Amino acid sequence: MKYFLKLFITSLFAIVILAGCSENKETVSEAGKEHKEDKLQVVTTYSILYDIVKNIGGDQVEIHSLAKVGSNPHEYDPLPLDIQKTTDADVVFYNGLNLEAGNSWFEKLIQTAGKTGEDAPVFRLSEGVDPKFLTSEGNEGEEDPHAWLDIRNGIKYAENARDALIEIDSANANIYEKNAKEYILKLEKLHQEALESFNKIPKEKRFLVTSEGAFKYFSAAYEFEAGYIWEINAENQGTPQQVKQIVDLINEQEIPVLFVETSIDPRSMEMVSTETGVPIGGTLFTDSLGKPGEDGDSYIGMMEWNISVILENLMGN
Ligand SMILES: [Zn+2]
Repeated sequence: MKYFLKLFITSLFAIVILAGCSENKETVSEAGKEHKEDKLQVVTTYSILYDIVKNIGGDQVEIHSLAKVGSNPHEYDPLPLDIQKTTDADVVFYNGLNLEAGNSWFEKLIQTAGKTGEDAPVFRLSEGVDPKFLTSEGNEGEEDPHAWLDIRNGIKYAENARDALIEIDSANANIYEKNAKEYILKLEKLHQEALESFNKIPKEKRFLVTSEGAFKYFSAAYEFEAGYIWEINAENQGTPQQVKQIVDLINEQEIPVLFVETSIDPRSMEMVSTETGVPIGGTLFTDSLGKPGEDGDSYIGMMEWNISVILENLMGN
């Protein structure tokens, strides 16, 4: 009897200890959750901004990116989760320069999320960029959004992200300063590498033909000429008239190779390739990063990829 009583008491003791352990575990996970919520809640409109802001914000930020990897940020339909995240965000970053303009999706989103007005923590990362303008019929005078394809503009984006994060979360200013300094050094080096690489291509061969005319800033920075099927993704894409124009240009200029973008349906460029007999030499990143873990899954990675694909294709011809 005594034995059983002892066993009973021992078991009871064990149960109490176990209960104590599981209580402790819960406390730990609660603390973990609280810690996560301590992070600055950030929303970016697409993957390239996600990566730039992540490089500056580091562990201090938790970022929700709206247009997903591989998709087109010119037009986007926010999901209920996107509206929730934007409403709850401490800071929202967008590109501007007419990028998130398709069906005014971004403007509508920040209205729904209650983030309008002068004091709203909504920052345009292209602030300070010298804009380039569209020229195609119906778009004349509108700003071209693809500023990030000139790495010097990417540096501006990084500086703007740094300043905004410091404004919203001044307690961590030192961390943002330090991260930005390291990141901007890498971008400066990358810009130099781009210049040196492209200098290997004779000027007369520096001609990029892509589906969307996303290379205005890039072309000015790295001394290229550019041709496209349509000027911006927000317009009709691959109409017979657009295809005819680029086919004529390819024939006149004796363009040896075509490129297609990762975030665009390749069929229009395939049609152009069939009509001209000019091959598609490779894919380029313009409006989206590559998938996580694959080539081009960071802003630096996508630019490195573009540099090497362009070099490979235009040096060989
Ligand atoms: Zn685009």
